[in-house]
Amino acid sequence: MKNNNRVRVRFAPSPTGHLHIGGARTALFNYLFARNLKGTFILRIEDTDRERSTQEYTDFILKGMEWLGMEWDEGPFHQTERMDIYREHVEKLLKEGKAYRCYCLPEELETRRKALLAAGKKPKYDGKCRTMDSGLGTEDQKPYCIRFKAPQEGNLTFNDICRGEITFNREELDDMIIARTDGSPTYNFTVVVDDVTMKITHVIRGDDHLNNTPRQIQLYEALNYPIPHFAHLPMILGPDKQKLSKRHGAVSVIEYKTYGFLPEAMLNYLARLGWSHGDQEIFTKEELVQFFDLNVVGKSPSVFDIEKCKWVNHQHMMKLTHAELFHATKPYLEEMGLEIDLEANGFAVKAVCSERERAKTLKELAEISAFYFREEPVWDEKAVEKWLNDEGKQRLNALKDSFANLKIWDEASIQTAFKEIQEKLGIKKMVDLAQPCRVALTGTTTSPGIFEVLAILGKEKVLKRFDRALAF
Ligand code: GLU
Repeated sequence: MKNNNRVRVRFAPSPTGHLHIGGARTALFNYLFARNLKGTFILRIEDTDRERSTQEYTDFILKGMEWLGMEWDEGPFHQTERMDIYREHVEKLLKEGKAYRCYCLPEELETRRKALLAAGKKPKYDGKCRTMDSGLGTEDQKPYCIRFKAPQEGNLTFNDICRGEITFNREELDDMIIARTDGSPTYNFTVVVDDVTMKITHVIRGDDHLNNTPRQIQLYEALNYPIPHFAHLPMILGPDKQKLSKRHGAVSVIEYKTYGFLPEAMLNYLARLGWSHGDQEIFTKEELVQFFDLNVVGKSPSVFDIEKCKWVNHQHMMKLTHAELFHATKPYLEEMGLEIDLEANGFAVKAVCSERERAKTLKELAEISAFYFREEPVWDEKAVEKWLNDEGKQRLNALKDSFANLKIWDEASIQTAFKEIQEKLGIKKMVDLAQPCRVALTGTTTSPGIFEVLAILGKEKVLKRFDRALAF
């Protein structure tokens, strides 16, 4: 009986698309639920739709899971490798009289469906083959599919962790096909057989599956397996309150890596789509595991707000040490073609971190700190026109002479030298001296504090950049 009461959950994506925000949130809630209760988290690839499933999508899903750090304990299991198990279960239901062969042809079904509709009735399978002795005999020569003999009486009630009590009338559930004419099993059947054989205790999935649940419960009953707990997670909407989709931006979570989001920030933000813990907004992964509680997840949809997601990312960036933040940002600088040479004085670390207050993503951080690493800045023409005119150059020249003579190169000495020039040239506003200097160093009019930039760049680079600006 080892582990029998232990929580076992699964994430069961179909590799017919990317791991998108909704799927990642479903995976995360399963993951956190399992880790919080010291249970088992299983990954199952539902690839029975052979036409739409691809290895490429499977790889994307696995990569997304790995990037987010949701390590699974068992799997990945592939449904296509479990066909024998499904077949066995179909046989079992047939033998026990809980399923039957159906010889109705698609055209016949269509005609009868139309007749039902015309008579104002619900168009479900009319059960023609249900009562036939279809076990053996000449009929076997004809093509057939296998239908589940769905109990037709009474109500079916279950308690959904997110949505509360839900009742369906069994009469509304028709005899669904569990194996097609070619013998391939259908979705509702494989899910149940897998959940039964993998001993899943809690099915946590998107609420787009809610309507499948009563059908699946009837299969659990037929297979004499305890019905798992269900939690149907509320939808995630875009800012326009429509179901989140491609129209709203990134399709796949791995794209957020490209945009410069930290995986821990993404986990944090995804967890808050439907779950909360008091007023806390920023969580480490350990805290998410510690505090996660499925009972808090209700039924109202949540909205994916990219600005909030960036804010969360910024908070996580600020939590990193300077060295960690630099290493996280380095690939984005390299992507821009910038070779980063980690000098002994830690220039690169200081350079990147001087901009961290202003950047919401690692990519932004790379972009705004790139000027430190470029041989020549990217010139903002307006800035050059306005600040590197004759007057600006005169001021720059004065600064250059004074800086060239500085023995100690730190923020305090730079500031003193700078103030002296400002006074000597009778410049009232600091900005009128700072901006020519800033444009000469960065190519633009925005940067961290000018003394900080000067100190980080170092005397040699500063003088070189001044010369280039003066030659403009
Ligand atoms: N394969 C299904 C999907 O990707 C999930 C099935 C389930 O979680 O029960 O939507």
